[in-house]
Amino acid sequence: MKAAIAEGIGTYLLEDVELLPLGPTDVRVRTIAALACVTDVHARRNGGSPGLAKPHIRGHAGIGEVLEVGDRVRRTQVGDRVVVVSRPQCGTCWWCLHDQPYECDTTVAPPPAAARRANGDLLQGSARVGSYAEEMRVAEATVVPVDTTLSDDELLMLSCGATTGFGAAFNTVPVRPGQNVLVMGAGIIGLSVAQAARVGGAENVVLVEPQAARRDHALAGHATHAVADAEEARELLADLTSGRGADVAFEAVGTPAALQEAFMLTRRAGDVVGIGFGHWDDQLVLPFNQVTLRNKRLSGCQFGSASIIRDIPDYARRIELGQLEVASLVGKRFSLDEINEALDAQEACETLGAIVVP
Ligand SMILES: [Zn+2]
Ligand SMILES: [Zn+2]
Repeated sequence: MKAAIAEGIGTYLLEDVELLPLGPTDVRVRTIAALACVTDVHARRNGGSPGLAKPHIRGHAGIGEVLEVGDRVRRTQVGDRVVVVSRPQCGTCWWCLHDQPYECDTTVAPPPAAARRANGDLLQGSARVGSYAEEMRVAEATVVPVDTTLSDDELLMLSCGATTGFGAAFNTVPVRPGQNVLVMGAGIIGLSVAQAARVGGAENVVLVEPQAARRDHALAGHATHAVADAEEARELLADLTSGRGADVAFEAVGTPAALQEAFMLTRRAGDVVGIGFGHWDDQLVLPFNQVTLRNKRLSGCQFGSASIIRDIPDYARRIELGQLEVASLVGKRFSLDEINEALDAQEACETLGAIVVP
């Protein structure tokens, strides 16, 4: 089968590889579509995550149809339409049993080999997924069957950015009625945060986004205000909150500067949520007394603090009911052969949720 391989930093190569036979808790999935995520733009420029050997199959989010399951797989069966995600939930480790399944032990274990190249080299899948491929060989823990009338494109949005953004404002720091919310970045995550914040009853949702087209898109959707930079946001929030600042600020950019700005724009005793994916050696510097004397709380948020097997089907149902929407996040379509063009489009902010179809 064809897969997009990362050899190091730089463009991905399309190559014919062979999936390894399934272990007892593995699932083989025919890829219906993969999400070309901005995380892969970073990885293409800076290299993949620690623990990921090179070369490997890229792509950490997708949907597909289950073709085959291992003997001990219980979560899904052949024929299911499933969402495959980068945050596994095994259901039995310490974290899964202590209500923090988004830190499932599987998440920090090195991804197992999933396929073999013609030269015999073994390949891992990025984040245990490897969705830029015609098929995926993944652990049951990464697979979420969803029985829904959602289109493939809509369901795909729940495989990464939308679930992350919704969960940030529903799970990590639930937004409450009447709050003034700041969101840094109007990509698929930031827009999903904005929507969930409105659903939670936020009075104002201020998006900070340098790209004018993305600001317009945000304003046509769920943001009440969209500004170009932190200074504009500071003035606007001062007006909206009698000088207090944001009740909750979400960073969805992936730079220390954006998280620092979000922190400084948050009111005393407010909440700051960092969502973006930075470099592994990035450091965050914050004024100490703003945390202690000013009671500001900083939370990390990976994958929307989600229980994937609870939240992804729930979000799908809420979209069916018209309580949430992801149609506005669906971006341009690319073939698997065009994977590098898809990431170029993401890097240039020319599209939101770019779809890669094998
Ligand atoms: Zn992603
Ligand atoms: Zn677990």
